[in-house]
Amino acid sequence: MTNQKNTQVDIDKIEQAVKMILEAVGENPNREGLLDTPKRVAKMYSEMFEGLHKDPRDYFETVFHEGHNEVVLVKDIPFYSMCEHHLVPFYGKAHVAYIPQNGVVAGLSKLARTVETVARRPQLQERITETVAATIMEMLNPAGVYVVIEAEHMCMTMRGIKKPGAKTITSAAKGIYENDSVKRNEILSFIQMP
Ligand SMILES: [Zn+2]
Repeated sequence: MTNQKNTQVDIDKIEQAVKMILEAVGENPNREGLLDTPKRVAKMYSEMFEGLHKDPRDYFETVFHEGHNEVVLVKDIPFYSMCEHHLVPFYGKAHVAYIPQNGVVAGLSKLARTVETVARRPQLQERITETVAATIMEMLNPAGVYVVIEAEHMCMTMRGIKKPGAKTITSAAKGIYENDSVKRNEILSFIQMP
């Protein structure tokens, strides 16, 4: 059981680093508007990266035996993450589906919390997708898991190739979803429903 361990975040060190970045780009970190910026950024980073100190498997310690063996899909889960290559945001929606086995289900909010916790780390969209699917597979032992994530990456939008609006789609299929395109298409059509 991991609890919140935000004490592991070194606020002072982030503050020093942000001040150094401001100096390095040619700013004056002592001017009025920037005076509290290192402190604000440090506080924000400790929130944005709090997933480093949490284990999403903890959310599945309580499960329910409901005798429900049909698909469960939570779609349009909003998330915000930080690209580990550029430390700028990427954000979008996650869709998480699974088919319970022996009627074992988790509270629906746990699926969204899993996405949020995994996203709050320096990340790649591919790894969020895989980690969410693997966590549910490990903890609920369902017949199958299918996770689809769509996101816009600020590192593509505001720098480099500058393609605003471009979306990246990733998916991870486990269990029966791995080899069953009919079942995957069922989820994809649910996702597209308004
Ligand atoms: Zn990037």
